[in-house]
Amino acid sequence: SHVITAPCQGEKFGECVEVCPVDCILEGDDQYYIDPDICIDCGACVAVCPVDAIFHEEDMLPEDEKYLEKAREFFANN
Ligand code: SF4
Repeated sequence: SHVITAPCQGEKFGECVEVCPVDCILEGDDQYYIDPDICIDCGACVAVCPVDAIFHEEDMLPEDEKYLEKAREFFANN
C-alpha cells in the first residue's frame, strides 16, 4: 500500500484524491488518508502530491510507519 505522511498535515492539497483510480483516498481532520486495503499501488498520487507526502510502505522511513497505523485506524472508524 501507499501511505500519506507528515508533509500532508495541515496542507491537505488533495490533488491525490482526483487521480486515484480506485477512489481510496479520503479526507480526515488533519490530513488525507489512503485505505491500505484498497490501494493498488499504481503510484499516481505520488506524482501529483505537491509536498511529496506519499510513499510506498516499503520505502517509508521507520519513523513514518505510524502513518500506516493512523490510516488503518482512520478507515476502521470511518
Ligand atoms: Fe490510489 Fe494509486 Fe495512490 Fe494507491 S497508489 S492511493 S491506488 S493513486
